[in-house]
This record gives sequence, C-alpha cells and structure tokens, in this order.
Amino acid sequence: MSPSFTRAVIALGSNLGERNDTLTAAVADLVDPPEVRLLAISPIVQTKAVGGPADQPDFLNMVIAVETSLTAPELLRHCQAVEGRHLRVRGVRWGPRTLDVDIITYGDAVSSDPALTLPHPRAAERAFVLYPWSLIDPSAELNGVKVGDLAARAADFADLAPFDGFEDSRLEDRRLEDRSGAAGAVEP
Ligand code: ADP
Ligand code: MG
Repeated sequence: MSPSFTRAVIALGSNLGERNDTLTAAVADLVDPPEVRLLAISPIVQTKAVGGPADQPDFLNMVIAVETSLTAPELLRHCQAVEGRHLRVRGVRWGPRTLDVDIITYGDAVSSDPALTLPHPRAAERAFVLYPWSLIDPSAELNGVKVGDLAARAADFADLAPFDGFEDSRLEDRRLEDRSGAAGAVEP
C-alpha cells in the first residue's frame, strides 16, 4: 500500500550571495527525495528585508507547494538540512541569510509548538509569502481569509516588486492601485 501524501506549502527566502542560484538549488534539493513531490512553484518576488538590521540586501522570496509522505517534523528536518547545505549563517535574528526555508502549512495541521508552529505564525502578515502563495493557490485561506486579500493588506505589500526580468502585470497593477489609493497630492 502506498503511503498517504499530505499537501504542504513551503516558503523560501535568500538575501545573501547568489540569491537566485541558491533558491534554484534549494527547490531542487527540497523535492529531490521521492517522499516529496513538487505540485507548484511561484514566481520569485523581490522584497525589502523586514525587521533586523538596516541596509540589508533585498530578499528574493518564493513559495512552493508539495505533497509529501514525510510527517511534519520530518519535513522540518528536511527543510533545515537543505538550509544547512546552503551554508546558512545563523547570526543576528532577522539578519541576512543565504537561505531561509519555512513550512507555511502542512495539510490542515494546527500546532503552537515553538519548534514547529503551524500554520507559520508570521505568514498571515507577510506579503512576501502571501502574494507568491496566492499566485499558485488562489483559493488558499488563512484564518478564513483568502491569502491574496491578506497579502494586499499586509504592511510590506508596497515593498514587493517583480524579480528582474519577470513581467508580473498583476503585481504592477496592484502596486499602482495601492499607490493611487495612498498617494494624495504627492505627484501630479
Ligand atoms: P525565521 O524563519 O522566523 O526567520 P528561523 O528560520 O531561524 O527564523 O527559525 C527559527 C526556529 O523556528 C527554528 O528552529 C524552527 O524550529 C522554528 N519554527 C517554528 N515553526 C516553524 C515553521 N512553521 N517553519 C519553520 N521553522 C519553524
Ligand atoms: Mg525559518
């Protein structure tokens, strides 16, 4: 009998070194074992670092959806092993890092365990997670609200930009709407 697979959403971020190369290799590593199957992959978005020291390089962020026969703790260990393979430097909290891999959801699991909180405790306020997630999973909800709507309300939404070379008309449109709503008399 084949093991049952659970759908999980994983967020990746990098703001040190060859950021795109790191994300590319990390996605390949995450879905390398037969226990993890890729379902969907978001575009990369570029975001200002939130919290931590000022003047950090911009983050590149993306989200993937997988289905996995790993348990949630096994999936976390796998994500941490992938982080480790990319020489993540653990230093200042919220400081620059070559790779951060977070589990956003694991099926419908809810957990307040500090070692593995599900859904991820800060996902609902992070446009850099919510927006790419909404692109691959438009019907997904957190706390009963569509993730795309949560993204638009998140404080960092205006800091999102499409990654170089990727045309994201939805993001551009929404950024323009956002600016015209907030701009007042700044620009003619
Ligand atoms: P952050 O991702 O918040 O910037 P870290 O990546 O350094 O910080 O994670 C710190 C700890 O967060 C890890 O030791 C891990 O056990 C814990 N953690 C709790 N919930 C999750 C989750 N959903 N995904 C990933 N790590 C988590
Ligand atoms: Mg993390």
